[in-house]
Amino acid sequence: MRTRIAPSPTGDPHVGTAYVALINYCFAKKHGGKFLLRIEDTDQARSTAESEQAILDSLRWLGLSWDEGPDVGGPYGPYRQSDRSAIYRKYVDQLLAEGHAFRCFCTPERLDEMREAQRLAKLPPRYDGLCLRVPAAESEARAQTEPYVVRMRVPDRGTAVIEDMRRGKIEIEWNTVDMQVLMKSDGLPTYHLANVVDDHLMEITHVIRGEEWVSSAPKHLLLYQYFGWDVPAFLHVPLLRNPDKSKLSKRKNPTSILFFKAMGYLPEALLNFLGLLMVSSAEGEEVMTLDELIARFEVDHLSLGGPVFDFVKLDWLNGKRLRELTPAAFLDRVLTWGGDRERFATMTALAQARVERLSDLGPLLAFFFAGRLNLTEAQLLDGQKLDRDGVRRALALAMWEFDAAPQFDKTTVETVLKGVAERLERKLRDIARLFYVVLTGSPTSVPLFDAAELLGRDICRERLRGALNTLGAPSANEQKAWRT
Ligand code: GLU
Repeated sequence: MRTRIAPSPTGDPHVGTAYVALINYCFAKKHGGKFLLRIEDTDQARSTAESEQAILDSLRWLGLSWDEGPDVGGPYGPYRQSDRSAIYRKYVDQLLAEGHAFRCFCTPERLDEMREAQRLAKLPPRYDGLCLRVPAAESEARAQTEPYVVRMRVPDRGTAVIEDMRRGKIEIEWNTVDMQVLMKSDGLPTYHLANVVDDHLMEITHVIRGEEWVSSAPKHLLLYQYFGWDVPAFLHVPLLRNPDKSKLSKRKNPTSILFFKAMGYLPEALLNFLGLLMVSSAEGEEVMTLDELIARFEVDHLSLGGPVFDFVKLDWLNGKRLRELTPAAFLDRVLTWGGDRERFATMTALAQARVERLSDLGPLLAFFFAGRLNLTEAQLLDGQKLDRDGVRRALALAMWEFDAAPQFDKTTVETVLKGVAERLERKLRDIARLFYVVLTGSPTSVPLFDAAELLGRDICRERLRGALNTLGAPSANEQKAWRT
């Protein structure tokens, strides 16, 4: 038995990835199988090495380990799709030769027009098959000079039936399934082709992934059939939800594993918490180790309703586990979380010019050791040059820009805040006080940009979000107006 987690390194390491990884891990280990990690970076424009590293580090931090992966190697490598480009080409050629795929020469303009027409006619967006009618010889010839993509053939009628380990038969009409692009015009595969080829070559027996992939499953099933390969078992697990049942997204709540680390959650508590969303447990038996989670895991017990990521419960569990540590173990955790000598060196260097007594350090640096600051409206608005909506807009703009920045250091912070000031037709000094208050809790503190870098992106964005929620999160209309 072999399972895998196949993250795309396009952003922060998401708790949802950890949740699906944990399920894959427990399922494989319960049956004495192997769990592996594959990096799916076919989207070259959005994938980054930093994101890949952060995903590996965070999953490890949580206590998960993989038997095979890009960092540990293994007999089925390489485990990063960008290192496997040469492999996919051969399979595309095979599908073309056997008539299961075809070259598509349609221009982006034509595809736009087609989609617009479909939209007006209230039809599902789907490639209309124009290039299916290009004769083979002509297709060969045009391929020499024209750009093209390769699409898979999809039946026009009938029903695809996916066997899901938890949901049973899932039926999807073929005429709603698009003729998926398998190879882009640059010769690189799309997710769908690479995913199926790799799951086959890596001998994955059970594909366990988030339910957002259900609609792709017919395409994958068809590819297995075209290639004549055994179809793995599928299990589509429900996505984590906010308490209001909406999809857990970083717009509403922190989702990055790095946030939980920065906030001082214990990795084993976070893993335990995710585990409780996956196994059934009675009151009083919530504290579980990874081994206990493995023992208890049953596919049939997975709730299909969408497990709720309940921060109150996480806090409770984390507190419980913190209090149960021996004093020595607790001290170890405090020191690991609080920072090493280098981090302290940066803090004290920032503080040195502002102290008269060493005892000033406590109040001056306390904000580095806090999570959310829970400031009141009055604390946020008093003495500000901007009015209430100006403050809200400044906070929202900064939060979005912090998110979008490829890295997060003091130059980023400075550039973002200058940009925000400009958008509001103000000077940086007119908004500096606001960001001092929101990020450090006080209108005067150690230098702001350095402080923000040391706090890190996750804590900064959470403090911005907290302040924004206190003053009123932007409405959909405000978001639209402010973004442009
Ligand atoms: N790369 C996909 C993702 O990021 C993997 C989906 C799958 O497991 O098939 O979620």
